[in-house]
Amino acid sequence: GAAEAKAAPNAASAKTSVKLSHPEKLLWPDEKVSKQDLLDHYALVWPRMEQFVVNRPLSLVRAPDGIGGQRFFQKHASPGMSDKIARMKDPTDGEEILYIKDFDGIAALVQYGVVEVHIWGCTIDALEKPDQIIFDLDPDEGVDVKAVREAALDIRGKLDELSLANLVKTSGGKGYHVLVPLKPSADWDEVKDFAHDFARALEQASPDRYTATLSKKARTGRIFVDYLRNGRGSTTVAPYSSRAKKGATVSMPVTWPELEKGLAPNAFPLGDSTTLDQLKKADPWKDFFKLGKPLQRG
Ligand code: ATP
Ligand code: MN
Ligand code: MN
Repeated sequence: GAAEAKAAPNAASAKTSVKLSHPEKLLWPDEKVSKQDLLDHYALVWPRMEQFVVNRPLSLVRAPDGIGGQRFFQKHASPGMSDKIARMKDPTDGEEILYIKDFDGIAALVQYGVVEVHIWGCTIDALEKPDQIIFDLDPDEGVDVKAVREAALDIRGKLDELSLANLVKTSGGKGYHVLVPLKPSADWDEVKDFAHDFARALEQASPDRYTATLSKKARTGRIFVDYLRNGRGSTTVAPYSSRAKKGATVSMPVTWPELEKGLAPNAFPLGDSTTLDQLKKADPWKDFFKLGKPLQRG
């Protein structure tokens, strides 16, 4: 667990002036993962994580008393929030948007008790033009995790046929997230329509395995191909974010061959040796945004 992370003296790759109050406070009490452990995790992954969280609208899951206590899903600032967590106004509706500019920003989130960082699939400079598509695979209870991996691989094959770059991460929960990097060009409606059509095509090809309908009933024994993450203002957990879940897992970018070999969605607990070993390998998402092309409808 976290003790192994502490034993690794190379933990900090990023520095911050943010001082944690109660660094020893256990945010995941069962796993003995403290606020300091969480900050150390972000310092370690920061070179990989930065391009996915800086200057993007955020939603935050806060659990100031640890994941067993009260939780808040928060999109706006609240009193006492550090100014290292930046604010802007959504020009379309005047709603406040939170974002971070640098490692101090994520350190401020940790200090604030944030246990999950969620992102929009766009940057604050191009709020109307997503730079990624996400397929969030949500299995019904009882669906074998192997079938969820097969679904991810199925999606990969179909995206390959369309010559769309594709990458995969564990959710840290029950599923996987398949991402398509985009050069910002299409708007939210176009991207969401594309994702919806794609999910419906999967359902039509294998109605026993997949559904493109959110309802619990449609999902019975199936995997919901959640395309709804692609709407304006919708969020997905950020790569490398911790999860407010049992196991203190993180959402981890992996390679397709690693997935094929049988990685569980919750395979990477924060500070665990499995996670540290994964982070010693080459960064599988390094060229994420270089791979993006504009989405062509046709
Ligand atoms: P799993 O693999 O277990 O499905 P997940 O992160 O994909 O993990 P989902 O339930 O599929 O979990 O996704 C929930 C999504 O809904 C998140 O991406 C999050 O950004 C968004 N969301 C919207 N409102 C909330 C809320 N109140 N609490 C948590 N998530 C929320
Ligand atoms: Mn999901
Ligand atoms: Mn979902």
